[in-house]
Amino acid sequence: RIAVVGSINMDVMASVDQLPSPGETVVARGVQYSPGGKGANQAVAAARSGADVWMIGATGRDPFAQAARDSLASAGVHIGYVADKPGATGMALIEVGADGENHIVLAAGANGLLEPADVARADSILTSCDMLLLQNEVPWAANQEALRIAKAAGARVLYNPAPMRNLTGEALRGVDVLVMNETEAAALIGTVPQGLDGDWSVLDSLAGIGIAIVVVTLGAQGLVCWQRGGLIRLPAFPVRAIDTTAAGDTFIGAFAAAFDERNLVRALRFGAAAAALAVTRPGAQAAVPMYSEIERMLET
Ligand code: ADP
Repeated sequence: RIAVVGSINMDVMASVDQLPSPGETVVARGVQYSPGGKGANQAVAAARSGADVWMIGATGRDPFAQAARDSLASAGVHIGYVADKPGATGMALIEVGADGENHIVLAAGANGLLEPADVARADSILTSCDMLLLQNEVPWAANQEALRIAKAAGARVLYNPAPMRNLTGEALRGVDVLVMNETEAAALIGTVPQGLDGDWSVLDSLAGIGIAIVVVTLGAQGLVCWQRGGLIRLPAFPVRAIDTTAAGDTFIGAFAAAFDERNLVRALRFGAAAAALAVTRPGAQAAVPMYSEIERMLET
């Protein structure tokens, strides 16, 4: 069983020929709505990968709330602990120009209103889960409450420090598994080694603060995974990427679903296969593959 505490969004994307300058109005070629939010994306990826997943988060009282909840539920994620908050559901407003350049405005909405009490209400889930997934899109106090409850009951905690914000050793206390991309890794450890074949011994320093496993994802290059006593380097599955939105979230959800400390390579490959499939499709949650597709990818 996996518990996810995190954001639930509805992303609104308008494609335009040219991004507007301040004060300018441009006509969109089209508009798409796509369920997102790092927490919800990771929950959907874990559920499609076969795990029993509970989402702990919040939606607002606008027409997007239902659509965001439906997307989770239709992937099999339990939404009984998704709180109902006044105001808007979390949202990313995205404008994409013909050349792929974008403007993004992120509105936390209900995600920003998630309180420790909302999290504590789900204590029966937090005390019975094998793994808790956390990111940086809900207030830190909510994350801390979840970590405290789950940890006391013996769960493993996977933390994805995204989007990056000031990360202190304090914030990492209690974290067992840290998963970050290159940008986040650079913010945490300074200079990131060059690619898959680089010298990643810098990750050894994280062992001092009690983290057992550190994964740094390197986009189309793949990932490295540090575990006491060794480093695993895993190249990405070769695919034709068309939209890398939620690649990291898909990796994390699928990796968590397959997590087995004694066979990390298997779980990492499972996550990487899921993420590779996701980048071949548009959207966030809509792009997350099913268990059977991931298994097929692993056989090739
Ligand atoms: P984020 O989305 O958080 O920035 P990354 O871009 O590092 O994360 O991608 C996460 C994982 O997704 C990578 O480790 C890799 O396994 C997979 N992935 C990302 N981009 C590609 C790609 N172009 N081809 C194949 N796999 C990819």
